Amino acid sequence: MVVGDVTTGTDVLVIGGGPGGYVAAIRAGQLDLDVTLVEMDSYGGTCLNYGCIPSKAFISATDVAHEADSAERMGVYADPAVDMQGMVSWKDRLVTRLTKGVESLCERAGATLIEGRAEFAGENSARIVQEGEGQGAESIEFEHAVVATGSRPIQIPNFEFDGEYVLSSRDALALENVPEEMVVVGGGYIGMELATVFQKLGCDVTIVEQLEECLPAYGEEVTEVVRERAESLGVDFEFGHAAADWAEHEDGITVHTDAEDGEDGAFDCEKCLVAVGRRPVTDTLNLDAAGVETVDGRIDTDDRARTNKEHIFAVGDVAGEPMLAHKAFREGEVAAEVIAGEPAALDYQAIPAAVFTDPEIGSVGMTEAEAEQAGFDPAVGKMPLRASGRALTLNDRDGFVKVVADAETEFLLGAQIVAPEASELIAELGLAIELGATLEDVAATIHVHPTLSEAVHEAAKGARGESVHY
Ligand code: FAD
Ligand code: NAD
Repeated sequence: MVVGDVTTGTDVLVIGGGPGGYVAAIRAGQLDLDVTLVEMDSYGGTCLNYGCIPSKAFISATDVAHEADSAERMGVYADPAVDMQGMVSWKDRLVTRLTKGVESLCERAGATLIEGRAEFAGENSARIVQEGEGQGAESIEFEHAVVATGSRPIQIPNFEFDGEYVLSSRDALALENVPEEMVVVGGGYIGMELATVFQKLGCDVTIVEQLEECLPAYGEEVTEVVRERAESLGVDFEFGHAAADWAEHEDGITVHTDAEDGEDGAFDCEKCLVAVGRRPVTDTLNLDAAGVETVDGRIDTDDRARTNKEHIFAVGDVAGEPMLAHKAFREGEVAAEVIAGEPAALDYQAIPAAVFTDPEIGSVGMTEAEAEQAGFDPAVGKMPLRASGRALTLNDRDGFVKVVADAETEFLLGAQIVAPEASELIAELGLAIELGATLEDVAATIHVHPTLSEAVHEAAKGARGESVHY
């Protein structure tokens, strides 16, 4: 039986309930706008269900085991074992708790929640398509729309995800057994984070990366620390190799690569994780009906998150790089505030980024080279962790804190951190840049002793030629 079509109206239609969409919906509700949020899969999007949270749960669990297993220098002897199925079900419980939390926050903000796929039917109307036989379509008339449909993994030729041999990050985060060997195609964010997880679980990991370094956007100074640690854990790197194809054999598969130097590779493994980037999701939406344009596969937006259509906004991964959850959060907020008539705008100068490798990477603003390219005369301070008392007591001393400022005015321009908890430490420098702080402000701020944050303090002092502890 077909249930008849229903038409409703809303001030703000939000399409997609990930970090961009659910924040836009909550903020719009707080601003007393009538808001409808449509999600076709699960609230929390990639971030909560298949990305940030699941991967960080795996990283934390494997770190606990690895640290206990490698603390003899501290006089600690342990032989921990990880029960993969136990770890997966713990991760699943966290995900359920958080996704239910997001759903209830949206409801409490007054948003109407609809399950289904939204597609535009016109400039001010959309249809909600429900999967399943016998369902009618709901139509929604809207004043404003916020597109927050996220991204999906790029599939390379010959490596279609099959969930058995060729895995996406989502498949890898649902594995219930540790593979003997894994080839990871791509040494970017996902490749490096998950290679570390699986290597610590006892899997033999080989990273096949077409460029000459992992995480190339971070630069050699940063990546060499992380690469050397990964190598010491047992990860093999095959740089200058691009994945070409694979073949099944009795004991698993062989991944073939095209090498830059002509020495093509063949790597046997049980599973192959492909993590070569993500692409905005623009094809579920019938964008043409609304007249919304895409540029290089993403929806182009201005500093108010507006598309080429004044009343339609796009936030998060669908609006392009950087594809980070906290960038999506901020864009969602700005879109809702602009719709409510507030003078909000996006400012990307202090978007931090972190890679949850071992050790972690945290970065914000400009590197020294970028500062030079932008015409600054950079003042630089670098504090190696081996000179930090707290790092030594953590038995983890590889890495550094580097701050970059304008030599003339001492305004902070950027920072790079490689350290345990770098993802937390970078927040201080993000705030400093956002507030227009100078090196002197950071150097004159009293930091708790003994902490890793003292290395931030010391780096700022170093940039002024006032190092005390190094
Ligand atoms: P998404 O989270 O992808 O949400 C989009 C939502 O829209 C989905 O729920 C989808 O079902 C829905 N949707 C799509 N089309 C429609 C439609 N037509 N109608 C209705 N609903 C629709 N970022 C970080 O900042 N830190 C991290 O540590 C981190 N780790 C990650 C680890 C992994 C393994 C991955 C894959 C990603 C990670 N990211 C991380 C990136 C982060 O997940 C994304 O940047 C973030 O989820 C983007 O949010 P979004 O709202 O734009 O899109
Ligand atoms: P990525 O862009 O970070 O890295 C992809 C890597 O794959 C690149 O180094 C590229 O040179 C390599 N590559 C591409 N094609 C290849 C081929 N055929 N053979 C070998 N190597 C190849 O992409 P990702 O790791 O898939 O992550 C996607 C996005 O998800 C990231 O850009 C980031 O925005 C987000 N993410 C963020 C975090 C975090 O914030 N900590 C964690 C995971 C994912």
